Order: sequence, then structure tokens, then C-alpha cells
Amino acid sequence: MSIFSKIAAGEIPSYKCAETEEFYAFLDINPLVKGHTLCIPRREVDYIFDMEDDEIARFQVFAKKVACAIKAVFPCIKVGEAVLGLEVPHAHIHLVPMQSEKDMLFSNPKKQFTPEEMTEAAEKIRDAFSRLA
Ligand code: AMP
Repeated sequence: MSIFSKIAAGEIPSYKCAETEEFYAFLDINPLVKGHTLCIPRREVDYIFDMEDDEIARFQVFAKKVACAIKAVFPCIKVGEAVLGLEVPHAHIHLVPMQSEKDMLFSNPKKQFTPEEMTEAAEKIRDAFSRLA
């Protein structure tokens, strides 16, 4: 089982932002900015482009909804999306609320927030997500 499967199953703690039967979203533990969120499929698949067409389409729609929730609670110009997958072999989409292009530079030093700040950020996103149609 991948670390992200364990997170989606609740076996490893995470700052949960959203979930459906098929997908799960949680805060990146080493965020580029506050609100940096990861979306994953519960099904274990390493490379995102190995996903079937209909599954990747549903995944993208889930990420879109999470991005809308992030934008509603973290003022930003746009929410950027990136797929790397070089560290964790379980497909994931990074969603990053951007004030500038520099916020998407994965070589930037990662930010650190207190557990209270992370909990509050995840709660806000969860709340906004639950209010979206
Ligand atoms: P990459 O596979 O290159 O897209 O990077 C994996 C991302 O997952 C990194 O941004 C990590 O900070 C993040 N990450 C790794 N483990 C955890 C975890 N237990 N909880 C939240 N984020 C994680």
C-alpha cells in the first residue's frame, strides 16, 4: 500500500480537505504556500497518465472542485495545477493558490505552518468544498 493510499484510508493522519468515494484531497505537508493541496485517486496508480480516460476526467473534475474551494478561502490570482510524482509513486495533482508565477516553483524552500494553522486551512477548504454543488 502506498503512503497516499494509507492517508486516504485514514491509516496515516492528514489534513483532509475533501473526499469522495473515488478521490481524496489533503494539505501537502511541505507546502509551497498556505493552502497547497494534493488530490489523489483512492485507487493505487503511480503514473497519472496510466489512468483510463474516464477516470482521469473524473479526477480532473474533482481537482477543479477542490481548486474552487481553495480559491474561495485563500485569496489568490489563480490556483495553479501541477503533476510531478517524482517522490511519491501514487498519482497526485498539486493545487497551489498563486500570487505570482514564482509560487509554482517546486525548487523554492518549503513553508512551515503550525499544526493549528494547517488544521484551520484544511477546515476552511473542507467547508468551502461542502458548499459547492
Ligand atoms: P512529488 O511526488 O514530486 O509530486 O512530491 C510529493 C509531494 O507529496 C511533496 O510535495 C511532499 O511534500 C508531499 N507529501 C509527501 N508525504 C506527505 C504526507 N504524508 N502528507 C502530505 N504530503 C506529503
